[in-house]
Amino acid sequence: MAEKLIIAQSAEEAVKAKTSENVYIAGGTEAMRLGTSVDCDSYVSVRKVPAMHQVRTSDNNISIGAACTFQELLDSEDVPEYLKEALCFMASRTRRNMATIGGNIATCRNDSFLVPTLLAAGAEVCLMDESGETKSIGLESYIAGRSQYKDALIVSILIPRIAAVKSARSANTAQSHARLTAALGVKDGRYYAVAAIKNYGLVKFGTLMTRLSQGGLSEDEIVELFKNDAKIALTDDRLYGGAAYRKYLLGITFAQMYEELKG
Ligand SMILES: Cc1cc2nc3c(=O)[nH]c(=O)nc-3n(C[C@H](O)[C@H](O)[C@H](O)COP(=O)(O)OP(=O)(O)OC[C@H]3O[C@@H](n4cnc5c(N)ncnc54)[C@H](O)[C@@H]3O)c2cc1C
Repeated sequence: MAEKLIIAQSAEEAVKAKTSENVYIAGGTEAMRLGTSVDCDSYVSVRKVPAMHQVRTSDNNISIGAACTFQELLDSEDVPEYLKEALCFMASRTRRNMATIGGNIATCRNDSFLVPTLLAAGAEVCLMDESGETKSIGLESYIAGRSQYKDALIVSILIPRIAAVKSARSANTAQSHARLTAALGVKDGRYYAVAAIKNYGLVKFGTLMTRLSQGGLSEDEIVELFKNDAKIALTDDRLYGGAAYRKYLLGITFAQMYEELKG
């Protein structure tokens, strides 16, 4: 239960209200859920900040306000299909009406709905610090330096309007947690392969990226590559499957996305 709630009307107001004693809140679907990792009961809500609900397009890019909900983005004609594919991974419409893209990035769970797709698209995040200064950095850098940016407000997310990106999610049912959420992107012949693996982490597959960028690989070769990659140190998981199965799943998932991208 919230002990203290500040409702910001602008991003500047939100960063001013942020202290070491409170956290930002947007949709609240992660922060308020049972067993949440967000250990705080004082919040600065950015849900009502109008500028953070805007979707703006330019020639090549689209800028998405961080407080846009999954459903707002699915309903927007400007949002590219490659992102809508991942937005649909959140099967509950009730939750899609609340959960935001900024909250999903900041949470960055190891079954994240959107982070693999956004990484494969080369997304950038626009951050605002406590003095109201903004700067844009690559999503990959944001994730790598999350402890450094823990008090920064994600104001918006910049993605290309047109990009060759495929996403895939593997779960028992649409409402179950994913054992795997993966995305493959290609730009100027260079591939980017990344997956969120439940109870393991977010992994970028450098060897696969190099091999795909060098030339074609068959489905069997991709499956073998994952099977023999000792750096992917998965262990057997009672809920999400054995290590060998999950490596096979990674291989087959990337092989399918590769086929679709080539097509
Ligand atoms: C039943 C259930 C199942 C779920 N399954 C999944 C799942 O499979 N995969 C998954 O990824 N998520 C899952 N979630 C979590 C959640 O629904 C999503 O991650 C959602 O996108 C979080 O967005 P939000 O706006 O609700 O975030 P909030 O709950 O409002 O905030 C979450 C965190 O993000 C921070 N934050 C929010 N907005 C910003 C911002 N603009 N700038 C900086 N920090 C910010 C908050 O401080 C907080 O730490 C699940 C939740 C529930 C209840």
